[in-house]
Amino acid sequence: MIPISTVKFDANAEQLVLDTLRSGLIVQGQKVQEFEQKFAELIGAKHAIAVNNGTTSLIASLEAMGVKEGDEVITSPFTFVATLNAILACGATARFADVSADDFMVAPDKLAEKITQKTRVLLPVHLYGQSADMGPIETLAKKNNLQVLEDAAQAHGATYGDKSVGTFGVGSFSFYATKNITTAEGGIITTTDDALADRLRLMRNQGMRSRYNYELAGNNWRMTDIHAAIGISQLPGYPGSLERRRANAAFLQENLQNITGLIVPIEQPGRGHVWHQFTIRITSEARVSRDDFVSELASSGVGCGVYYPKLVFNYPPYRQNDRVVIEDYPVAQQLVGEVVSIPVHPNLSHEDLETIVTNIRRILGASL
Ligand SMILES: *Cc1c(COP(=O)(O)O)cnc(C)c1O
Repeated sequence: MIPISTVKFDANAEQLVLDTLRSGLIVQGQKVQEFEQKFAELIGAKHAIAVNNGTTSLIASLEAMGVKEGDEVITSPFTFVATLNAILACGATARFADVSADDFMVAPDKLAEKITQKTRVLLPVHLYGQSADMGPIETLAKKNNLQVLEDAAQAHGATYGDKSVGTFGVGSFSFYATKNITTAEGGIITTTDDALADRLRLMRNQGMRSRYNYELAGNNWRMTDIHAAIGISQLPGYPGSLERRRANAAFLQENLQNITGLIVPIEQPGRGHVWHQFTIRITSEARVSRDDFVSELASSGVGCGVYYPKLVFNYPPYRQNDRVVIEDYPVAQQLVGEVVSIPVHPNLSHEDLETIVTNIRRILGASL
């Protein structure tokens, strides 16, 4: 089976974790600080504040931005459930704007239509490793005096113009096992705002400025030094791993052209894609349904996944929730019925890539 994602650690990772264990300094300390500095450098952010996972980083960001009950946050209906859960955890109300079929992400003109007197934050999600359309989103935020939180959980190092995602507004990243960079579990918040960074550092550590000097009612959102050591070990190899993801994506694009019922993902002009996922669309013109395609591909030994099978609010906890405003999102609704993510990760061999292409072409009835 060719897996949809892999987790591999080199000897350097093992050594760094072992050194950290042996040092006896395992809670938030030197290693966390080093990881924060290096990650901030990678993104080109002024501050990076590490926390225990990517959901925490979204919740912490919204809380630090002052989001509370009665406020509205607008996001994409086509995202992982953590985005919505974070909005609800702050007591805020979630609204959604439809996406663009070109990039799967929230469409700025649709976003503009959803802004109300209560809107505080625009929350674009950089899905599959590509930046959302940040230019118009930034303009919209400025015009309406709104804050921007970027859910960059899937997009470490993705760019829009000459800037990395996570530097347009407040950036929230995840280091869960399957993400492009992992610490097993982990998250980080990036910001240029000194006061916000300071507040986040207090909030994650019981509100403590110095020993038993509490400035606010905080939390324990700390990352451990062991997790930070894993993260540090991944950074030097990240440019190389991105090159392999890009080469794999280029091969898949090249060899899956002009097939009836298949749409391949493209890198939007001016955006640097980091190919967290390579997500194709199986349309109604294909000779098999999307679901049959998925089972046939899986039984041919090619791991694949549907991210995501439903719009984010189409589950029992959200359908009857007063703080989840549900309207019609025809583009996103069509996409959830068409998407399939296929392997693009850096550990694919050339033979793996050939196997993936051959099986997809066969299932869709294209010449081999
Ligand atoms: C993974 C992910 C998160 C949550 O990150 P965790 O570290 O798993 O808590 C949030 N948003 C998106 C879009 C994600 O893919």
